[in-house]
Amino acid sequence: MSSKRKITVAYGDGIGPEIMDATLRILDAAGAQLEYDVIEIGEKVYLKGISSGMEPKAIDSLRETKVFLKSPITTPQGGGFKSLNVTTRKSFGLYANVRPCKAFSPFVKTHFPKTDMVIIRENEEDLYAGIEHRQTEEVYQTLKLISEPGSEKIIRYAFEYAKKYGRKKVTCMTKDNIMKLADGLFHKKFDEIAKEYPEIQSDHKIIDIGTALIADRPETFDVVVTLNLYGDIISDVAAQVTGSVGLGGSANVGAEVAMFEAIHGSAPDIAGMGIANPSGLLNGAIMMLVHIGQPDVAEKISNAWMKTLEDGIHTGDIYQEGLSSKKASTKEFADAVIERL
Ligand code: NAD
Repeated sequence: MSSKRKITVAYGDGIGPEIMDATLRILDAAGAQLEYDVIEIGEKVYLKGISSGMEPKAIDSLRETKVFLKSPITTPQGGGFKSLNVTTRKSFGLYANVRPCKAFSPFVKTHFPKTDMVIIRENEEDLYAGIEHRQTEEVYQTLKLISEPGSEKIIRYAFEYAKKYGRKKVTCMTKDNIMKLADGLFHKKFDEIAKEYPEIQSDHKIIDIGTALIADRPETFDVVVTLNLYGDIISDVAAQVTGSVGLGGSANVGAEVAMFEAIHGSAPDIAGMGIANPSGLLNGAIMMLVHIGQPDVAEKISNAWMKTLEDGIHTGDIYQEGLSSKKASTKEFADAVIERL
């Protein structure tokens, strides 16, 4: 009988297939005990007229394996099919989106070398509940939903995460000076739950100044917990200040199923050119290995990946004249990581 852990894999759209190939090659070379159930999602499935972007057999695969390694997909903007990412998060109750954003200075150029923050984003509620309609000829309405159980679950997750990983502070971000009821509920729950964790510092920032501070002094943040839309925006800001959106991995965690991906999207502007940075998806896969109980392989890959960056082997998005030694293609970058395992 195989001791391999079966996971569901989707190659996605745009740069998705290129970065997934690179990531799976590294996982296999590192000796990860994995078996892949490959499913099709995204554009090709939408074109078959399946509005969820996911065929029933793909959903069955996820129900069986409970672990999903997913490349980014292209979601139509301003109309068309709804987002498969949002559908997956909601169908499988993936309530916590965990996005570590860490600087790798001096190997990856950043103005903030000490940045090491984790954004924990509520993943099911808020304006992403998908309740949108036309009110009049000239007016559309989107409803923002915030619940007490949903808020409590994600805030508790953030404090438990801080405790587990030895983090010192949890910052809550809301706009409760304006959305006094919905954001006010989240802030109130945060203050209540913070009292149960006296060993962890806690504070609150209004989201606009909070975002400005992440852009200006990200080193002052540790764990940040926030609502869905704010978390989506600030995690791109935080990833970018560490050097590139191409670096960050992301975990979407629920009670039973978990999905791992890159922070960034399908980057259609560079799709098929073989130059995408596979690091975001690879970092997502490293989080996945820890989640499924293969932390040794995770550490081995993480060390080889960092050594590759240290040796100046950089994809175009993080390439710097004078700092980098080689401008690597996606495939060359993966080969370099494999050589350092
Ligand atoms: P994007 O993240 O795809 O790209 C933004 C910029 O960053 C582009 O210039 C791109 O070339 C660059 N970039 C992104 N990833 C990179 C990588 N790995 N290596 C090098 N450069 C990289 O954002 P976008 O252009 O706003 O979105 C494109 C599509 O992706 C949209 O359809 C959007 O809905 C979708 N999207 C999907 C996900 C997901 O599947 N989780 C997340 C975000 C966006």
